[in-house]
Amino acid sequence: MLDYAHALRILLDTIRPLAPVEAPLADALGLVLAAPVQARWDLPPADNSAMDGYAFAHAGQRAGDSLRVSGFLPAGAVQKTALTPGEAVRIMTGAPLPPGADTVVPSEEVESAGDEIQLRKAPKLGDHVRLRGEEFVAGETLLAPGTAIHSGEIGLLAAAGVTRISVYPTPRVALLSTGDELVELGETPGPGQIINSNFHLLAARLREEGCAVIPLGIARDRAGELDEKIARGLAEADLLITTGGVSVGDRDLVQETLRRHDFRLGFWKVAIKPGKPVLFGTARSVPVLGLPGNPAASAATFELFARVALRRLGGHGDPLPPRLRAILTAPVKGGGKRQAFLWGSLTEAAGRYAFSPSSRQESGQTRSLQGSRALLPVPIGAPDLAPGEEVEVLLLRLPPGRATP
Ligand code: AMP
Ligand code: MG
Repeated sequence: MLDYAHALRILLDTIRPLAPVEAPLADALGLVLAAPVQARWDLPPADNSAMDGYAFAHAGQRAGDSLRVSGFLPAGAVQKTALTPGEAVRIMTGAPLPPGADTVVPSEEVESAGDEIQLRKAPKLGDHVRLRGEEFVAGETLLAPGTAIHSGEIGLLAAAGVTRISVYPTPRVALLSTGDELVELGETPGPGQIINSNFHLLAARLREEGCAVIPLGIARDRAGELDEKIARGLAEADLLITTGGVSVGDRDLVQETLRRHDFRLGFWKVAIKPGKPVLFGTARSVPVLGLPGNPAASAATFELFARVALRRLGGHGDPLPPRLRAILTAPVKGGGKRQAFLWGSLTEAAGRYAFSPSSRQESGQTRSLQGSRALLPVPIGAPDLAPGEEVEVLLLRLPPGRATP
């Protein structure tokens, strides 16, 4: 059976980033830049004051020297007349220096009396002045393709006057739940029925990843119903995710239906636990992931494959989950014939992370992943692990913060 690393390789080689789009800066949050961005102007646009204080021409001023204050420059004001030697202006942070000025002394470093100030200490040439173009100059490349746009990047581009940028769009993901036993949330399950909880978990997880969700509802285990919904998903989405109906014992209709839509199989069945029956391929060139129906298995295969697929579609150069070193708090049984992925919580104390495996790891249990922030990979044939050992976990969510400073 295919191992996880090999399956990932197939997935990454199959999926290409979506075609870039032009987006207003504010809509680009969380997306990845597809083309370099240049600054439209210099920042700062002019030499300006970094402090509330007094601007003057340095000209060898020493401690004890006096200057005559001839004006006041709040932020936004511009003075065109040049300062003469021995003259200063009161200036606020951000105001452009008047011509002739090259140095600023903070208000708290002068004695002031009427329109005279006396320097308490010798200023250095250029003190407290932000120079024109010190952050960037017009035409400078500010961000390279592949950069993820977070608040810091938005602030930088806004300061540079960039209103629209080329980004990989938010993937649209169609979610289809399959199974005769499923009923929608809000209904009361009858005998043999359960709520379609996978949809809610995956839809929430997709929203966390910034994706648009196209809900396709529940398809009964009947070819006609599946076909219609799969066709809709392939027409409207960048990625189709199904749950259920991929295991052997099941009436495996998902793959059968996909075959009517130019299905190219990437892989079916991977040596992982949970999630062995996971299916991947493309249908009409749209990537499709068939996740197992068991809730913890569908959630795990989402993290192991779907999230990677989404980040690949979104143009991320680093589509795999981040890894974190953590100290194990409980014993873990060694690896078997499949690579195991254990749900667990993550805490931080004294600068170290600790991973506590969840007491429930059954793929059928919805409670296995509640509170989980990481998955611990246990490689095939790995030895038993003891508490206190350092392990590397796949980070799903950052550990909680601290309650006290
Ligand atoms: P399957 O992969 O279709 O064989 O389903 C495996 C198990 O997962 C069965 O016990 C199903 O009842 C359960 N299951 C399948 N789909 C869902 C779903 N959408 N929500 C919750 N449980 C599900
Ligand atoms: Mg089923």
